[in-house]
Amino acid sequence: MKEYKGIGVSPGIAIGKVFILHSGGSFNLPKRSVSLEQISNEIARFEEALTRTRTEILGIRRKLSGQIGRESSDIFTAHLLILEDRTLIEDVIEVIKGEKVGAEYAFAAVIQRYFQAFSQINDEYLKERISDIRDVGKRLLSNLCGEEKKRLEEFQGKVIIASHDLSPSDTASLDRNKVMAFMTEIGGATSHTAILGRSLEIPAVVGLEEIVNELQDEDTIIVDGTHGVVIINPDSATIDKFNSQGNRFIQLTGELDKLRDLPAETLDGKHIILAANIEFHHEASSVISHGGEGVGLFRTEYFYMNRATLPTEQEQYESYRNIAQAVHPHSVVIRTLDLGGDKFASTLEIPHEMNPYLGWRAIRFCLTRTDIFKTQLRAILRASAPGNLKIMYPMVTGVYEIRAAREILNEAKSELENEGIPFNKNIPIGAMIEIPSAALASDVLAKEVDFFSLGTNDLIQYVLAIDRMNEKIAYLYEPTHPAIIRLIDLTIRNGHGHNIWVGSCGEMSSDPAIAILLVGLGIDEISASPVMLPKIKKAIRSIRYSDAKEIAQKALAFHTGKESYAFLKEKLKDVCAELADE
Ligand code: PEP
Ligand code: MG
Repeated sequence: MKEYKGIGVSPGIAIGKVFILHSGGSFNLPKRSVSLEQISNEIARFEEALTRTRTEILGIRRKLSGQIGRESSDIFTAHLLILEDRTLIEDVIEVIKGEKVGAEYAFAAVIQRYFQAFSQINDEYLKERISDIRDVGKRLLSNLCGEEKKRLEEFQGKVIIASHDLSPSDTASLDRNKVMAFMTEIGGATSHTAILGRSLEIPAVVGLEEIVNELQDEDTIIVDGTHGVVIINPDSATIDKFNSQGNRFIQLTGELDKLRDLPAETLDGKHIILAANIEFHHEASSVISHGGEGVGLFRTEYFYMNRATLPTEQEQYESYRNIAQAVHPHSVVIRTLDLGGDKFASTLEIPHEMNPYLGWRAIRFCLTRTDIFKTQLRAILRASAPGNLKIMYPMVTGVYEIRAAREILNEAKSELENEGIPFNKNIPIGAMIEIPSAALASDVLAKEVDFFSLGTNDLIQYVLAIDRMNEKIAYLYEPTHPAIIRLIDLTIRNGHGHNIWVGSCGEMSSDPAIAILLVGLGIDEISASPVMLPKIKKAIRSIRYSDAKEIAQKALAFHTGKESYAFLKEKLKDVCAELADE
């Protein structure tokens, strides 16, 4: 039995068999040990992947030789030769047998050895072959990993997924009926993979550095997503203990769900709109079952992932209309495409950048690819005729993006008008406040929009200079850092000073102690993962607004995030001990 501590990102407890899933894309794979009996199966998987990769390359070569001539298609001939290299094939089989490991690890290890050897050779031609090996290697690895997904589908019963990394698109394609929890070696609390864990409503722990090497397929695992704990091969007393903790969690969740139809109102009658963050329109039922008053953030980028073509206007229109109908009369805030950072779509060629979080992403991408942007805006506008919709732009740095986006929105409006298609002419427009410049200049920005929504996941990342994906610096992720609380306070005051409402849709409000702080700072709307809403509602219903205001003023005066968080936790305990103990 071995216990690991990571970052709990989606609450609940799961106990079951582990399934190790490699996500491809990198040659740095953790070792997956296999038993003696599984060795021949791993060799067969490797050989199947070789055949599939060869067939793919032959297909590409055939297509290209017609289009761009022999010379370029010869690159693929070189790729085929690599795949047919007996030494390489035998080396991989040797590693599978000798080290008793999975095919993808063995292949990646051999490829890494080849890189080393080639880079030491003093011959330019051979050095250039490294990029061929890398290309073909990635293709083969992705076939092996893709095949793993098939292996997962065929696996009998439910599993807990363990992976070095799961991309948001990998996570979005997990089947909830098959996967009861997941854990990854990398990632932080606000990475999109973590956020998807909550939207799937399965326990998840990330940032478990180097755990996969310690695992074997089908080991028994406990995942405690509330406390960020993973236990490998627990003894029966530990299983019993976690089973009863799991039951307590279910009981508490059931009790909180009873608040579903009650308003998110403080004891002295201040109503906070408690809305939900969603990634897919089919989450409407979860918004309603958890008592969400509409959708405060619809992350539309998942529309563009795991597919071969771009979503059409009609398809998007139907999705936005469906969600609007489902949560009617409440509103739905549709955030326009926010790709980049950690979210990519294979159909869109967003180049690999040195600093993807600071790069060509979100509204910056949309303002260049106005074709894609306008299609989305037309879909939203059309759905705004029957539905209560709002538009929100991500990654706004200042008034420039709002004005540039307005031009394209106006073009879309004129087009629809000319085509005689109805839409809401006064559809509200909002800016996400997630870049420090937007918060600092929120007084000028407030004149250009109808609402603000604080995207604290990114705001914290940019203000504190911490990559939200990086588990090594996750300890610096401090929502109550004085700089963060001050910027939130400033944004709310500037918004209210210009008579616009201010919401918050970052993950930090899922913590009831922080929800109290936001209420005290005067927030009008809190939006969070549906599964987190009952807890937030309970916190709001446990406090007086007048007390929350006083608490927020005191929290603003602390010099460190730790002190102000401890203070908020203490105050939460005074009003609702049961939430504070969680
Ligand atoms: C945020 O940045 O806080 C946010 C809500 O958006 P996302 O997590 O999708 O970046
Ligand atoms: Mg963001």
